Amino acid sequence: MRHQRENDTIAAISTALGESGIGIIRISGTDAVDIASRVLDRGVRKAETHTIHYRHAVCKNEIIDEVLVSVMLAPRSYTGENTVEINCHGGVLAVERVLEEVLKAGASLAEPGEFSKRAFLNGRIDLSQAEAVMDVIQAKNRFALKAAVSQLSGTLSKKLKELRNQLLDETAWIEAALDDPEHYDLSGYPEELGKKTDAMIADLETLIRNAENGRVMKEGISTVILGRPNAGKSSLMNLLSGADRAIVTDIAGTTRDILTEHIRLAGLSLNLTDTAGIRESEDIVERIGVERARKAAEEADLLLLVIDGSSELQEADRLLLHEIEEKNAIVLLNKSDLDTQISLEELQKLSSHPVILFSAKDGTGLSEMETTMREMFYHGNINFNDQIYITNSRHREALEQALASVRLVKQSIKNGLPEDFFSIDLQDAYESLGIITGETVEDDVVNRIFEKFCTGK
Ligand code: GDP
Ligand code: ZN
Repeated sequence: MRHQRENDTIAAISTALGESGIGIIRISGTDAVDIASRVLDRGVRKAETHTIHYRHAVCKNEIIDEVLVSVMLAPRSYTGENTVEINCHGGVLAVERVLEEVLKAGASLAEPGEFSKRAFLNGRIDLSQAEAVMDVIQAKNRFALKAAVSQLSGTLSKKLKELRNQLLDETAWIEAALDDPEHYDLSGYPEELGKKTDAMIADLETLIRNAENGRVMKEGISTVILGRPNAGKSSLMNLLSGADRAIVTDIAGTTRDILTEHIRLAGLSLNLTDTAGIRESEDIVERIGVERARKAAEEADLLLLVIDGSSELQEADRLLLHEIEEKNAIVLLNKSDLDTQISLEELQKLSSHPVILFSAKDGTGLSEMETTMREMFYHGNINFNDQIYITNSRHREALEQALASVRLVKQSIKNGLPEDFFSIDLQDAYESLGIITGETVEDDVVNRIFEKFCTGK
């Protein structure tokens, strides 16, 4: 592994730039204490580990700021190195000036993610935990945060370690038995291993299944609003993203005809897409609209089908109802504030999904829709207590590779192949799982992961 500037002491501002209560400069490396002491009126060279000191940050006897200095000596710090944190009052200028002095005193400016990378290289955290650090910072909702914190605390690492130990035990046993046939008896072993691989396959499948929920939690539920022109799609979009609901971001790359907004509803995070473009094609055949809606729908986690209840059910409505049958969907019988031409019961007969009497105009049905969503996404398949969530596509890929290898072992057993065939695939599975924790990962993958971090982390 390439250790960049391994012996350098690094420093960066670890808090967000801008006006805030405090600003923290983090310094990490062998000379951290010495370097910090050079910018303080009284040094912290004699400080014991895990203590905080009141000092002044100075430049040529001129006081820059009144500061609190925390000292955490190796190896009991985040990076595993000597670490000093200088807490400034936090005006941008003061924090930047103190950092400038720290750099002059001999520290190098930390690269993005370099503190976490050092923590990883020093064995303080494994790679999946380092990635969780970033997820905690970026978490957009409390579920994503919970999943990230759980991963940071090592739940995933622990499960993987268990699996890897099992794989290693079996490989070691096979190798030993092949080397020393007189003292080891391999008869009956394939059946025994077969049972063990079944359990491993089940474990891996569960982890992979949870990857889908994990993604949903991390990125939000991609929700597409469908319906024929004038059904009330845009009105629903406006209602949901209205002033009383938090619009978190406008997602970049939205085209003129597909509008996406990130909203929070019922404690869930939704990426809401209005298939507004379909409306513009009123003069074109409705089939084209259905075609496009179908494509958007294919990629969605949840569909909201809006039906205009103030006119009779039309062919396009029936087509859409049919299209969504196999998907996660909620049907909204809209415009219930007007004279209705379609009854709730009638529509319920045409769909296996929840059907809700709705009005995008006055908000009727909104709370019922929220309850329904909450049931679909929390109680249904998302349950925090007993599961580990995979929120990272890199992890998912590695899990899938490991699963494929264990399945090959199973296949070899079934085909009565010799034992050395098992051990090759067991070993492959072992290495695939090591990719997640960083034990068997390429340098450039490690670098790529830490580059995505913000500076100061
Ligand atoms: P879209 O083409 O599906 O996006 O439909 P719009 O949201 O643009 O709505 C079409 C028309 O129906 C507009 O005039 C809306 O004001 C009206 N509309 C939408 N929802 C409701 C509703 O719940 N009640 C009533 N009375 N009018 C609605
Ligand atoms: Zn519209």
